[in-house]
Amino acid sequence: MNQMSIVHLSAITKQFGKVTAVEGLDLLIKEGEFFTFLGPSGCGKTTTLRMVAGFYYPTKGVVKFNDRDMTTVPPEKRNTGMVFQNYALFPHMTVFENVAFGLKVRKLNKAETKTRVTDVLKKVRLDQYADRQVSQLSGGQQQRVALARAIVIEPDILLLDEPLSNLDARLRDEMRAEILRLQKEYKITTIYVTHDQVEALTMSDRIAVFNFGRCQQVGTPTEIYNEPVNDFVAEFIGETNLLPVTEVQGGGEKRTYRSEALGREVTVNDTPLNIARYGEVDELRMSIRPEAVEVSVNQFSGPNVYPGTVKNVQFTGAAVHTYVEMNEGLTLVGTALNQGPSTYLREGADVFVRLPEDQIRIVPKA
Ligand code: ADP
Ligand code: MG
Repeated sequence: MNQMSIVHLSAITKQFGKVTAVEGLDLLIKEGEFFTFLGPSGCGKTTTLRMVAGFYYPTKGVVKFNDRDMTTVPPEKRNTGMVFQNYALFPHMTVFENVAFGLKVRKLNKAETKTRVTDVLKKVRLDQYADRQVSQLSGGQQQRVALARAIVIEPDILLLDEPLSNLDARLRDEMRAEILRLQKEYKITTIYVTHDQVEALTMSDRIAVFNFGRCQQVGTPTEIYNEPVNDFVAEFIGETNLLPVTEVQGGGEKRTYRSEALGREVTVNDTPLNIARYGEVDELRMSIRPEAVEVSVNQFSGPNVYPGTVKNVQFTGAAVHTYVEMNEGLTLVGTALNQGPSTYLREGADVFVRLPEDQIRIVPKA
């Protein structure tokens, strides 16, 4: 399999007047990859996607497809297929005409156009709707038309900008699966933009996490979740307990940190990764995921065991979240799979909380 990078962004900066939308961005997207830009609203995802599509040119930096410099090549010469957040369909054209549009622009003959459009409409399960006006379709169906229109031109790169954000939750789940199915079937290198971390974690081969126009981390979903590089990534992806800490003692296999909020010391298995993550930075946070936090009425043995009081128990069906008040102003949350009513802790119960040494991540403040 060809593993060459198909999209290569180097040292990209994009300014709109005084606003710096994207700064110092370096990214490599591989052939066939499902790559996601994830981050809060306004962090520069759409701007970056538009620089890949050619709708914007960077203020500084270089965009390459394979080894070709595309930095200022116009969109129609890039062979990318784009799906916009608001679909941007032609409302009084039929489904067929909408999907055929890109082929018409490319001056494909009628017979070939018909074959390709029909084929792609089958793929998105809209072959029965070819003659309908787009305005008569549901949101989910319009989304499929937008996808079909992007795919029919057989793009080298498929660009999707928050394509599911206008759909209700159930339809979103369905369309996620649909997009993945199409992406695998056509083996298209895909860049997917979302602010939804669940969407990013479930769909992507790799994710780039953005904040304030800067890429914070690139990695697989498990790398991003398990080994966040800073407090922003730890907090933005999934849930976490995050506490300011200072290093008390370093070196060896374990390090000791002090949390003022906890009023205690915490020992951490210090992997090379843990250390590399913060180097000489002095503002540190410890992050521990709720599913790693153990809560029990019985005393645990070993380090990092602290007393607390159950403040609140939240039942979500599959999981139970137990909020434990440790000190005034400090609550930790522990999440466990639902093991039945006999295991639920009572509000007000005195408990012990254990923070396993190998589950704690020490990260710099972003
Ligand atoms: P996201 O897609 O992550 O929500 P955007 O890329 O749309 O973020 O925007 C990043 C920043 O750039 C924001 O501050 C936004 O207001 C600004 N911005 C985006 N497009 C333009 C534009 N055409 N003109 C001026 N500012 C823009
Ligand atoms: Mg956007």
